[in-house]
Amino acid sequence: MSETFTSVSQEEAGLRDRVRLSFDLDVDICVIGAGLAGLSIALEAARLGASVAVLEGRHIGWNASGNQLGTVMPGFALPLTDLIERIGFEDARELWTLSKEGAELVRANATEANMPGIAPDNGVLEVSNVDAGDRLISRLQMLNEDFDTEVEGWQVDRVREVLRTDRYFHGVYYPRAFQVDGRKYVHGLAALARRAGARIFEDTPVVSIDHSGIRKRIVTPSARLRASHIVLAGNIHLGAPLRRLSETLLPVWRYAGITAPLGERVHEIIAFKGSVMDSDGVDHFRIVDGDRLMWESPETTWSARPQRFAGSVRRRIRTIFPDLGNVEVTETFGGATGQTVHGMPQIGQLRKGLWVASGFGRQGMNTSAMAGQMIARSILWGDERWKLFSPFELVWAGGATGRVAGQLVGIWGRASSAAAGSLARYRERAKVKDRQREARLAEANRAAGTGPRRPLAGVRPRPAAPPKPAAQGGQHRAEPAPHDGAASQ
Ligand SMILES: Cc1cc2nc3c(=O)[nH]c(=O)nc-3n(C[C@H](O)[C@H](O)[C@H](O)COP(=O)(O)OP(=O)(O)OC[C@H]3O[C@@H](n4cnc5c(N)ncnc54)[C@H](O)[C@@H]3O)c2cc1C
Repeated sequence: MSETFTSVSQEEAGLRDRVRLSFDLDVDICVIGAGLAGLSIALEAARLGASVAVLEGRHIGWNASGNQLGTVMPGFALPLTDLIERIGFEDARELWTLSKEGAELVRANATEANMPGIAPDNGVLEVSNVDAGDRLISRLQMLNEDFDTEVEGWQVDRVREVLRTDRYFHGVYYPRAFQVDGRKYVHGLAALARRAGARIFEDTPVVSIDHSGIRKRIVTPSARLRASHIVLAGNIHLGAPLRRLSETLLPVWRYAGITAPLGERVHEIIAFKGSVMDSDGVDHFRIVDGDRLMWESPETTWSARPQRFAGSVRRRIRTIFPDLGNVEVTETFGGATGQTVHGMPQIGQLRKGLWVASGFGRQGMNTSAMAGQMIARSILWGDERWKLFSPFELVWAGGATGRVAGQLVGIWGRASSAAAGSLARYRERAKVKDRQREARLAEANRAAGTGPRRPLAGVRPRPAAPPKPAAQGGQHRAEPAPHDGAASQ
C-alpha cells in the first residue's frame, strides 16, 4: 500500500525503474508472466488480501498485452453457436455471463481516476462481409433474449451510412462494448496491482518450477521463491517451467498499423466512432488521435518485425476504403497470441496449487480479466466456477506441423472470406442491375402504353392504346436484356 500510483504515460515511457528479483522470497501466490492474464490475477488476488509476486521474463506488456487494440467485447474467440454445440445451452450461457463480467471488470479498472488518458469509449460494430440478413435476425434474438446482451441489428444502408464501402453488409452493434487504449491498459493494470500490494519483478525469467509439494518452488537465474500456488500466465513464451503447456498453444502473431493524420476526410468515410471488426476476423480498426486510423489485419504463425507489415496494412485500408486513397502508415506494432485447438482459453487447476491462465487468442481483454477474478476467487474463496472450462482440455497444438497447418488455415480462411465477399458484392450488383432493368422495362411498357401510366404535370393524357394481341409475344420477350452479359463482369 506504500506505493503511490504512477501515471500510465510515465509507465509507458519507461520512466519507472524495473525491479529484478535478486533475493529469495516466500509468498502465497507466484504468477509467471506480466501480461493481461498474469496482472489480472495478481490484482484480484492482492485485492483479496493474498501476498503475490509476479515474475516477468522481460518487461510488463512486452508481448501481445502491450501491443493490442483494446477492444472489449463479451464472449470468447470461439463463436457462440460453436460454444453451445460443444457444451450445451446452459453452460454456454454461464460462460457467456462470466465473459460479460470480465468486460465490466475492465471498465471498472479503466476509469479516468485509475488510468488517466486511457479514454474508455462505448460502441463496437461487427460487420458482415456477406449479405447475411436472415442469419443476423436469429443471432440478434439469441444474444438479446437468451444471452441477455444488448445488441442492435443494422441494415446494410445504416452500416454504409457510417462506413463508406461496399465491402460490408449488415452489422451487429454492441452499444455496451467499448475500447480503451490497448497499449496503455496493461501498464495501468500493473499500477493497480502494485497499489493493491502485488510485487512485480521484471527481467526475471522463471527457469524451472517444482510443483510437487504443498509449498511449490520457483527458480529464477538470480533468486528462488516459495509459494502455495503457482499461476502459469506465460502464454506461448512460457517455455521451460512447463514446456508441454506451451505446446498446447498455436502461436499466431498479429500486426497493426497506425496511419499519419488523415484530416476531415477520414470522418466522412468512417463516421462510426467505436471499433469495427468484420465477422470473418480479418480486419479490425478504429479512428484514434482524432484523425488517424489504427488497423489490425495481417497475421502469421512465425515471428516477424511489425514494420514489415506497413505495406499490407496500407493495401488492406485501400481495399476496404478506396476513397481514402493511398494512406501512409507511420507506426506498426504486434505480438503473439496463443490460440488453443478448441478456441477457448485455458483456465483452471492442473494439479493442486498449479493453475493455468492462457490461450486467450485474439479476445484477451475481457477473458483475461474474467480468468483473473475466477482464479483468485478459487484460490482464496474456494469458488469452483473455473470447472466450467473443464470440457476444454489441454490439446497438443501440433508443433511445427501445427504452425504450418495454422498458417494454411489462416490463408484459406482469408481467401474464402474474400471469395464469399466478392460473391456477395456480385449478387448485390446483379440485384441492382435487375432492378434497373425492371425499371426500364416498366418505362418501356408505359411508353408503349401497356402499363399503368402517371400523367406528367401539365400534359393532357392521351387515350390508352388498344392491347396487343397475345400472339405477338409479351413485353418481356420483346425487350432486349442489355445486362445479361454485364452480370458476368
Ligand atoms: C495486434 C493485436 C491486437 C489485439 N487486439 C485485441 C483487442 O482489441 N481486444 C482483445 O480482447 N484482445 C486483443 N488482442 C489479444 C490480446 O492482446 C491477448 O489475448 C492478450 O494480451 C494475451 O495476454 P497474456 O497475458 O495471456 O499473454 P502475453 O501478453 O503474451 O503475456 C505473457 C507474459 O508472460 C511472460 N513470460 C512467459 N514465460 C515466462 C517465464 N518463463 N518467466 C517469466 N515470464 C514469462 C512473457 O514475457 C509475457 O510478457 C490483440 C492481440 C494482438 C497481437
